[in-house]
Amino acid sequence: MADTIFTKILSGEIPCHKVYEDDRVFAFLDIGPLSEGHTLVIPKEPAKTLDRLSDESAAAIGRVLPRISRAVMRATGASSYNVLQNNGRPSHQFVMHVHFHIIPKFDDGSGLGIAWPAGSLEGKKGADLAARIAAALQEE
Ligand code: AMP
Repeated sequence: MADTIFTKILSGEIPCHKVYEDDRVFAFLDIGPLSEGHTLVIPKEPAKTLDRLSDESAAAIGRVLPRISRAVMRATGASSYNVLQNNGRPSHQFVMHVHFHIIPKFDDGSGLGIAWPAGSLEGKKGADLAARIAAALQEE
């Protein structure tokens, strides 16, 4: 996989404000924060998108995400936050190295703004779709 800005942060070539590191995971402050405490949690494995990440790295991130979220909340005094994970350019992914955003939400409105254009799920369509996804999982 081609080097990204996050590979360079991992190698120390580019500086960052590190908040956490273990064998498989690294976390640092986002350089363009949506709110105070906006933190990025990344695997050291250079996978582009979540679906390409190994089970081992996924498990390692899952294990520390709640802990890092608690620390961000405690340090900033926020009581509400979003965890955001973008995959693919149309889904707003700019850096092609898996990353989870932890974004505190504050009373002044700073944090993640969300548009949520909810549709509806019809019975038959829902059943067919769930069956297709379940079948695809069997092929994993
Ligand atoms: P995404 O849109 O999900 O790909 O988010 C990429 C994030 O990486 C953005 O929020 C950027 O502000 C952040 N970012 C880009 N370069 C750096 C950097 N050198 N240090 C910290 N965060 C960065």
